[in-house]
Amino acid sequence: MLEYVYMNTTFTRTICIRLDVDGHEAILAATQRACNAAASWIASVCWEEHITNTNTAHHRVYGETRTRFGLGAQLAVCARAKAIEAIKAVKAKKRETCPQFGPRGSIRYDARTYRLMSLDRVSLNTLAGRVVCRLVLGERQHSMLVDPAWEIGGADLVWRRGVYFLHVTQSREGSEPSDPEGTLGVDLGIVALATDSDGQTFSGAQVTQVRTRYLKRRQALQQVGTKNAKRRLRQNAGKEARFQRDVNHCISKAVVRKAKDSCKALALEDLTGIRERVTVRHEQRALRHSWAFFQLRQFITYKAAWASVPLHLVDPRNTSRTCHACGHCEKANRKSQAEFVCKACGLAMNADHNAAINISRKQWAAVNQPMASSLRGEMQAPAF
Ligand SMILES: [Zn+2]
Repeated sequence: MLEYVYMNTTFTRTICIRLDVDGHEAILAATQRACNAAASWIASVCWEEHITNTNTAHHRVYGETRTRFGLGAQLAVCARAKAIEAIKAVKAKKRETCPQFGPRGSIRYDARTYRLMSLDRVSLNTLAGRVVCRLVLGERQHSMLVDPAWEIGGADLVWRRGVYFLHVTQSREGSEPSDPEGTLGVDLGIVALATDSDGQTFSGAQVTQVRTRYLKRRQALQQVGTKNAKRRLRQNAGKEARFQRDVNHCISKAVVRKAKDSCKALALEDLTGIRERVTVRHEQRALRHSWAFFQLRQFITYKAAWASVPLHLVDPRNTSRTCHACGHCEKANRKSQAEFVCKACGLAMNADHNAAINISRKQWAAVNQPMASSLRGEMQAPAF
């Protein structure tokens, strides 16, 4: 069962490299204008005629793209690809406006329209044939570019405030998860954001402090209710989201690294459909279903796939009210959010730790296929 876990996960990453265009500025700018004008025209045609299929679009616009905009065969294909991709993106967001592109918009290059030559040269297709530019590579960019584990895909030529950049896309298939020795159960909670079955907590007082500060500030601003207060509420929401994202990155990284280093699989509660199946205490419910928890779970899933750590999702029923020592299950076992005291054997311990042990022992109810496949193509490679 486990071998299917990460099979559908493709990792992608983008390397942004500054280009030394070496006197080719005028022809690159002219190519940009032509490609973007072509892409805008193709988008208008396909939008009006309801074409989203690549082949249909090709037959409809290819010849005319070449004669109207003076593009070579391969650049015409690139312009069409850009237009169709933008239309699909707009439709996915259910928006009603046909996408159009500015004269300095990016050019999408595919395997036939650009070529990485020696270590720091790239050959780019333009209106006047191929030109060679120099990649200004840092050490890190260079090692990413030559890493044999990653396959180099297309690239975007991007112009920003007078400087050209090449955004090179790389991809890698998810690898088979390793054979684990034991399971590390992880309980995601409120007081400690994550507690594992060894009793280690991942959060720290600082996180709680900052979250409380944001909450108080939010409540105060909500009471004020002026225009200015509303603007500051929005600003604070952005800051809080960035803070939460950082925290979730740190915690997921620590959890996955621990499992990896100890050759263990990871287990989390399967929370799909939890609303119907489990009663969670009120104050917990709001938080458990908040985007922050969803994001933390998503980060753990993604980083586990990345590190080839098997991850399984277990049935969440009774994980927090069952005694891990004697198996006695009763609601009253959980004295408070933090404290677990078994009514049968008297075991007293941290409630999240007890839950995490139960999670680590449960037979998994589901592998993480739905989560992994929903990540496809959306996430960037994590920086370890
Ligand atoms: Zn007990």
